[in-house]
Amino acid sequence: SPVIGVLALQGDVREHLAALAAAGAEARQVRRPEELAAVDGLVIPGGESTTISKLADAFGLFEPLRARVRAGMPTYGSCAGMIMLADKILDPRSGQETVGGIDMIVRRNAFGRQNESFEAAVEVAGVPGGPVDGVFIRAPWVESLGAGARSVAAFEGRTVAVRQGNLLATAFHPELTGDHRVHAMFADMVRAAV
Ligand code: GLN
Repeated sequence: SPVIGVLALQGDVREHLAALAAAGAEARQVRRPEELAAVDGLVIPGGESTTISKLADAFGLFEPLRARVRAGMPTYGSCAGMIMLADKILDPRSGQETVGGIDMIVRRNAFGRQNESFEAAVEVAGVPGGPVDGVFIRAPWVESLGAGARSVAAFEGRTVAVRQGNLLATAFHPELTGDHRVHAMFADMVRAAV
């Protein structure tokens, strides 16, 4: 089975490890460049993208992450992880960097105060068996998509999941639902790439 890392700097690392294991992958924490070099695919978890960005910088992970993503390593980002995979953030905090790779512009905390946290049924292209329970927590949305990127889920007219090559991003958190279909789709992407 493929070895899939979870970037373990901050965020809901444990939940992603459990979801990947349930989807049949061998899941490991990744905190150091040597650990990154040993995985076939990577999940960037939900959490706080500004904190993940600062810690990735402090741990010397930005260049290794960019190099692996550029080289085609399958990578899945949920929520803060989606922000980390965006080529551009509309409203970055000062000093906030991304790994990039998906030709999109995301807006952080996009759904606004009245709607900071909610759940909605979301149909995801490539995930069989009906909609997933989309858990949105101070979630971003995709403001605009470039030519190489494809929307795979929308909510109220906003793109909330994207594929580009071996990269996948969701504004919501399947790792919090006990439904492992999104992680299973990602594990299939990793299997297809090794
Ligand atoms: N609002 C957070 C950010 O900007 C993302 C929230 C989440 O991952 N649940 O990073």
